[in-house]
Amino acid sequence: MKVVLLGAPGAGKGTQAKRISDFYAIPHISTGDIFRENIKNGTELGQLAKSYMDKGQLVPDEVVVSIVEDRLKKEDCQKGWLLDGFPRTLEQAESLAKFTDVDVVLDIEADFGLLEDRLCGRRVCPGCGASYHISTYSKPDCERCGQTLVHRDDDTKEVVRSRLEVYEKQTRPLIEYYAEKGVLKTVDGNLPIEECFAQIREIL
Ligand code: AMP
Repeated sequence: MKVVLLGAPGAGKGTQAKRISDFYAIPHISTGDIFRENIKNGTELGQLAKSYMDKGQLVPDEVVVSIVEDRLKKEDCQKGWLLDGFPRTLEQAESLAKFTDVDVVLDIEADFGLLEDRLCGRRVCPGCGASYHISTYSKPDCERCGQTLVHRDDDTKEVVRSRLEVYEKQTRPLIEYYAEKGVLKTVDGNLPIEECFAQIREIL
């Protein structure tokens, strides 16, 4: 099963990706997580990625594409994978198509008004990646693994606005691209997490 998750920042890609990956036992590949891991480890790639991420811009296509291409060659990807946050431009989608096919693209659609609030109020666990919202979870530590939750540097109002603009301009055209290929399925990202996941299971 080769699955791509599309959707604006805050639509719930990361949250659903964890559930899909656990339920279907396929690796969850998040380009954002790969960059954050590199930033944490102080690598050259991390430094480069951070200079774009801090402004809410996209890391250059050629950098992201080669990371994903290498990752998909690994042993654990031979029976399937779930891409979260890639592709994000038409160029990335076209590059992906050169080295693999895709079974289904799940487009998680959430109302624009929800996204900013979800992102600015989000707190994430640097250990297991779980994410919470300050309106429904007030503890400082992750429920799953106990690590202290953090407010992502790019979840501030200014950077969030720019990420949403980048999504509209560069990523939204992928919906049509995959619809034309006949692999697009739309999921309602306004729904509560478990209901959204139920929709996804039905599709998959
Ligand atoms: P995410 O965790 O998916 O929201 O990604 C966080 C940030 O990482 C994005 O705002 C981009 O700066 C960068 N990034 C992640 N995936 C990609 C991608 N496929 N292409 C370009 N930049 C990306």
